[in-house]
Amino acid sequence: MNICVYCSSSNAVAPAYFDAARTLGQRIAHRGDTLVYGGADVGLMGALAQAVKIGGGTVIGVMPTVLQEKRIVFTDADELVTTRDMRERKAVMESRADAFVALPGGFGTLEELSEILTLRQIGVHTKPIVLLNTEGYYAPLIALFEHFYQQQFAHPWRDMYYLAHEVDDVFRYLESYAPAPAPRKWDGPGEKS
Ligand code: AMP
Repeated sequence: MNICVYCSSSNAVAPAYFDAARTLGQRIAHRGDTLVYGGADVGLMGALAQAVKIGGGTVIGVMPTVLQEKRIVFTDADELVTTRDMRERKAVMESRADAFVALPGGFGTLEELSEILTLRQIGVHTKPIVLLNTEGYYAPLIALFEHFYQQQFAHPWRDMYYLAHEVDDVFRYLESYAPAPAPRKWDGPGEKS
């Protein structure tokens, strides 16, 4: 399975986040899966990719030229795909992946996760999406999602993503995943008067 991981490029985050990234990388390698990710050697991205390679696994990095010039490329990747820009990069990551996992991250991670959720919501893909909730990091985002549902800005389709509490949970979910059709977004009580 090709697993696309979105995660932080920050080197300053707490050790628990790095531990989770390394554990995920070790498991990807051990299972014989392939990591598809942003191709950088910084932050959780670097820790994850290094762990996959140390475990004997395969890494596909996908990077736009603009970031490659910053010399932060993970040079041990088995394949480095160069894209024109960040948008093309997301499309390549999406098309090369069988599943998506978001580790804790900032704006870049949120943007990638948000797009992949939006595409799932409108039925463009039916691949599994997992948020790894290390240290409860994603609790405020899940609370925002609940606000969307409560205010009827989104259909309350909570199975669209899976909130994993540890790395083992991620793989249990991926192994048992059976794609459900996206509910029609606008089915519901209708416009309020
Ligand atoms: P952030 O969460 O803001 O640190 O952004 C990380 C996410 O955005 C990753 O999943 C990457 O795909 C992408 N990204 C952002 N910054 C970089 C970078 N310097 N190098 C490579 N990818 C990056």
